[in-house]
Order: sequence, then C-alpha cells, then structure tokens
Amino acid sequence: MATVSLTLDEIFDLAKKTLLANGCDEETSSILSDLLMKAERDGSLSHGLFRLPAYVSGLKSGKINGKGKPEVKKISESVIKVLGNNCLAPIVLNKGLPELIKAAKENGVAVLAINNSHHMAAMWPETEILAEAGLVAFACTSYKPAVAPAGAIKPLFGTNPISFAWPRPGKTPVVFDMATASMAMGEVQVAKREGHKVPIGTGLTKDGKKTTDPAEIADGGVLLPFGGYKGSSIAMMVELLAGALVGDNFSFETATKDNNDGGPPSGGEFILAMSPEKISDSEWTKHADEFFNKMKSFEGVRLPGERRHKNRLDKGPRNINKELVNKIKSLS
Ligand code: NDP
Repeated sequence: MATVSLTLDEIFDLAKKTLLANGCDEETSSILSDLLMKAERDGSLSHGLFRLPAYVSGLKSGKINGKGKPEVKKISESVIKVLGNNCLAPIVLNKGLPELIKAAKENGVAVLAINNSHHMAAMWPETEILAEAGLVAFACTSYKPAVAPAGAIKPLFGTNPISFAWPRPGKTPVVFDMATASMAMGEVQVAKREGHKVPIGTGLTKDGKKTTDPAEIADGGVLLPFGGYKGSSIAMMVELLAGALVGDNFSFETATKDNNDGGPPSGGEFILAMSPEKISDSEWTKHADEFFNKMKSFEGVRLPGERRHKNRLDKGPRNINKELVNKIKSLS
C-alpha cells in the first residue's frame, strides 16, 4: 500500500480544510478535525481520515448540518438531553459532556441522552473524557441494520458499539470500545479481497448457513453478534438504550429514514456517568489498581486501551494511505 507521511498537524489541517470547503463552520470543522487527528494518532484507523469522505457525502446532501447548534436541555438534576439538530456527534458531545460531568459529580450518577445527531465515530473519545474527569463511563449507539439477532438470518441490529472507561487519577484510564458485531463488515471485505477465511460465527450466507468464506457474508449474507446469543442480547440492549430510552430511532427505523448518501444517519446515543467519589469509599482507586495489577500479572493479558495509549505517545508523523489522501484532497 502506497502511503504519504503526514504530521499530526497536517492531518488536522487536511481534515479542517476539507470540512470548511464542504459547508462546515469554524467550530464544527475544528472539533471534527481534532477527533479525526486523534483517531489517526491513536491508531484507531477505522475512524480516522478514512471516514472523512462519508462525512462530506452527508454534508453535501444536506442531511448533516455543518453549521448547526445543538441544544442542551436539563430534564432533571441527573438527566441531560441534547437535541443534536442534525449536527455531527462530536459537536453534540462537546456541548453535552461538560453538563454531564457537572451533573454526575453533584448527584453521583447522571445520564446524557442524545437525539438527532450523526454518529460515525469511535466511542472511546467520550468515555475517555468522562474518565479523565474522574467518572466511570458507559456509552453506546446504534446505526443501520447489519447484524442478525441470534437465531435469525436477516439483519436487525446495527454494529452497535459500546464503550466503558474507568478513571485512574494520575494515569491513563482503562477503556474498552468495541462493536457488538463479531467483526466489522469492512474487515470481512478485506478478508474477501485478500482471500482469507473468517472464523465460524462471523456471519451467515444469504441462505442462513454458517460459513468461513467472507465473500458469502459480504455478498448478500449477514454478520452475527459476537458471542452468539449473549452478544445478541447486548446488541439488543444498545438498541433499547440508544433508541427507545433516549427517544430516538432503532437501527431499522434509521434505515427507513436515511437518504443513503453514504454519510452517517441521524440517531441517538446513550451515555451514563458515575462518580466513584460519591458511590465508593476513599480506597476506590487503590482497590481498582490492585485488580488491574493482578490482571496484568497473568501471562498474555493486556488492558484494553493500552495499544491506543501507547500509540499516542508517538508524536511523530503517521503513514496515511496515499489513495485516501488524494481522494480527500479532491473533495476541496
Ligand atoms: P476491536 O475489536 O479492534 O477492539 C475492541 C476493544 O478491545 C478495544 O478497546 C481494544 O483496545 C480491546 N482489545 C483488543 N485486543 C485486546 C487484547 N488482546 N486484550 C485486551 N483488550 C483488547 O474494535 P472493534 O473492531 O469492535 O471496533 C472498532 C471501532 O469501531 C470502535 O472504536 C467502535 O466504537 C467503532 N464502531 C463505531 C460504530 C458507530 O456506529 N459509531 C459502529 C461500530 C464500531 P485497544 O484499542 O487498546 O486495542
């Protein structure tokens, strides 16, 4: 793969120039470019510059408002709602997270319910911000159907990511962020292109048969949740939390309303923040650290988030796919 070496500032500038040229205002361009740069910096590559052309598609079709302003509504002491007003999720989060942090610190627990926002990003940025503020965090969102519930052969769930972060004062938080699908469809397509098999349980053929052939999944087949019926229940939980609970779409409703321009559809996000300072005792940090140390003492174990956090320490340039860079440049 031919690559171009770009510094982190150059990645930010490339994204910002492209967004400004495609209808975003200064605030939206800056916030989204910062997120894309951080995804490249951390090696969260499926959610870095790779996603920029899709964001541009949504901006060009008018589905996404690049100049919109989300509205924060305090429903109660511990329930904050943000009306996304067709803005991109990072802009919505930028408005809602400070309110959530304040409410969770005051009340011990608080919820951020997001509506009508366009999410295509990774989930760790929001849970990590909350953990860095000293809170335990959980976030999830749905998308469009791609994953069959256990027992079915047709998609109903999105790839429905969940993220959890645990604060470690003075240290980097422990964070996991994962789709509830067994594998991203993008990775199935890569396996098809490169002629690799995929593990049984990744997906089904169009006739509902188990297969290790990625082509049979990618061409009319369907993905499965991770972990069989257990993952299926977690994907169902995401549909309920990010749909019915926050007052937004289920994945199948999102699909019927979306204009299919390739950009992220409008939907909801659910975020929960808990204050260990209020809920636990003064030993909570030490207690959790003892647990993490024990876990890491097992041979072969690493903590989730460690790969990204190690990548983050490298402040040097990143090698970006040349074809992608040229495509992005052509968008402005
Ligand atoms: P991965 O399977 O690559 O990783 C999932 C998590 O597991 C990460 O936190 C990762 O930490 C951790 N992990 C990986 N290997 C190990 C290991 N050996 N030991 C301990 N922890 C490990 O992620 P996915 O492919 O499932 O998801 C990729 C991204 O896609 C996520 O950011 C997700 O939010 C995003 N996504 C977004 C969607 C949306 O609609 N917005 C839809 C679906 C996915 P580390 O990062 O340190 O490797």
